[in-house]
Amino acid sequence: MDELGIIVVGASGRMGRMLVKTIADAAGCRLTGATERQGSPFLGRDAGELAGVGTQGVRIVDDLAQCPPADVIIDFTAPQATLAHAEHAASRGMAMVIGTTGFDANQLTRLREILLPVPTVMAANYSVGVNLMLELVRRASSILGNDYDAEIFEAHHRHKVDAPSGTALAIGRALAEGRGVALDDVAVFAREGITGERKTGSIGFSVVRGGNIIGEHKAMFIAEEERLEINHVAADRGVFAKGAVRAATWLRGRRPGWYSMRDVLGLSEV
Ligand code: NAD
Repeated sequence: MDELGIIVVGASGRMGRMLVKTIADAAGCRLTGATERQGSPFLGRDAGELAGVGTQGVRIVDDLAQCPPADVIIDFTAPQATLAHAEHAASRGMAMVIGTTGFDANQLTRLREILLPVPTVMAANYSVGVNLMLELVRRASSILGNDYDAEIFEAHHRHKVDAPSGTALAIGRALAEGRGVALDDVAVFAREGITGERKTGSIGFSVVRGGNIIGEHKAMFIAEEERLEINHVAADRGVFAKGAVRAATWLRGRRPGWYSMRDVLGLSEV
């Protein structure tokens, strides 16, 4: 089978570099293009050298149109940038793997519209552990119901710009789904001052930002006599890059559609 050609957009970012490295190590995959935002100091640099894996023969450019067509674009950048990349992917028939978080509801609707003609995987978190955690949380909340107060905790590095994390929101949606309610109706994102007692059925979020924490998430089910915690710690960004490259490989030959890591990992059938 031909190698899978992959373009990494945002190639000098924390995840971009990790993706370039992971693609270099992955059998059957080849980096065919790399982009960065206009004005980036890394334009013109070899993406492989920047990622510390030696020359890949792919220079970083500021316009996706300058990259030869590939099978898949992997995008861990920012919402506005991802929307522009999606237009390009749809018009040139390239599949997309999206890791960017922080979209508002309108942007997300627009993204899905743009990408109707191509197969797309989007996940707030590409680690196998977190995706399994979502299943466990859904199951736990359907069993425990409102008798257990549900709280979600997350911690990330000091450079993260959105909060709560896309993963914490995904955990919240899984938890709400398990109880048969909509997250928007029960989420509590901030507590300050005289808040009153905790409302039964609410789902609270708390957020820590600091240092170089790669990503920690905890779902807590708290009753009077016991507490169940489902906890995940990412120890290396490579876990997200590996998941994203796995998703890119899975997309080969798929029909246009909107897929999740649940589909990629076959968890829908569990
Ligand atoms: P980062 O700031 O280190 O990297 C983002 C890169 O995108 C930067 O280098 C930036 O210059 C570049 N960029 C911005 N606009 C661009 C454009 N128009 N064209 C090309 N490049 C552009 O951030 P990061 O830590 O790598 O995270 C990036 C995104 O991925 C965030 O939304 C983060 O929350 C998300 N993320 C998701 C997962 C997951 O598993 N889904 C894991 C980690 C991070």
